[in-house]
Amino acid sequence: MKKTFLKNIAQTSDSPIGIEVSHAEGPYIYTTDGKRYIDFISGIAVSSLGHSHPKVTEALHGQIDKHLHVMVYGEFIQKPQVDFAELLLNHLPSNFEQIYLVNSGTEANEGALKLAKKYTGKTGLVAFKNSYHGDTHGSLSVTGRDIYRNPYLPLLPDVGFGDFNSDKALELITYDTAAVILEPIQGEGGIIPAKKEWLKSIREKCTEVGALLIFDEIQSGFGRTGKLFAFEHYQVEPDILCMAKAMGGGMPIGGFVSSTEIFQAFKYDPPLNHVTTFGGHPVSCAAAYANLKELLEGGYFNRAKKIESITKQKLKGKGIVEVRGMGAMLGLQLESRELTQAVVEDCFNIGLLLGWTLHSDTLIRLAPL
Ligand code: PLP
Repeated sequence: MKKTFLKNIAQTSDSPIGIEVSHAEGPYIYTTDGKRYIDFISGIAVSSLGHSHPKVTEALHGQIDKHLHVMVYGEFIQKPQVDFAELLLNHLPSNFEQIYLVNSGTEANEGALKLAKKYTGKTGLVAFKNSYHGDTHGSLSVTGRDIYRNPYLPLLPDVGFGDFNSDKALELITYDTAAVILEPIQGEGGIIPAKKEWLKSIREKCTEVGALLIFDEIQSGFGRTGKLFAFEHYQVEPDILCMAKAMGGGMPIGGFVSSTEIFQAFKYDPPLNHVTTFGGHPVSCAAAYANLKELLEGGYFNRAKKIESITKQKLKGKGIVEVRGMGAMLGLQLESRELTQAVVEDCFNIGLLLGWTLHSDTLIRLAPL
């Protein structure tokens, strides 16, 4: 099948991992040639409960037998959407009052950027170097790596990039700024947590100039850092919170959460100014509800914290310069590119899937389940 895969499926690199999946369960991925891999990447921070968790698959079967897509987003009342939204919002601070449901991470960021522009009536955006917010045009416009942006220029105008964790970046946030978008822990940029005081000062500057603060928690959300969302480690709340990846327990879904007042901007001038056909698909929402319920009730946050402390204790020396990150969102900074490649390859050969990040070739990403 590899030949037809390479021939017919558009490729994004010359070197796909290329294992042929038979089935996946818990921490394991099984291949058609009878191998078993322990998954330490979780489909890049997706399968927080493990693959094919029975509570998620049961919810999927239940919804599939009732109905699939029935109407574009926001028109019909669909129980899986309403149930999921209620459960999620009950576990977020009170200024998060509503969720807009989409299909993916990049769509969540696109929606958040549009919402901020519409609500504030401004156009300026501030983002950070080494950030990653997705590959559609709006999200790419606020992604902080020229190597990925340059082939697609011109992108959105009025975007300024600051250094992550640098006070100098505060100067970019002005009365013309509609939104500041950042990952509280930069994922693809190398698993770099924001500093607490810095994040607080970004919050204060946004409030001072009337810019909305958007947290992209697409990678850090849904328990990966040991809390439901990473912002809870910081006691700093954004105006808009973006999520996807682990949200659907393996099904495609994303969303952005904000206040009812801010979301009013999508209702008028004109009505229906931000719509999606499949956003909040009922089958994905049924999975998201089961996934979230299990995450909240099943002790997963503590497990993520345990993963962090074991990893930080045990993985020392032997070419490891630093272990960074929170919970089960961890990065091993290694001494050299060659060593990084050798470790990833050796682990792969013995059946352990490790991750990489887009922006660093000396970092191994761990996102175990
Ligand atoms: N934002 C962050 C922080 C991400 O890590 C990613 C994906 O890796 C995205 C956005 C884009 O999400 P998606 O691939 O679902 O569009």
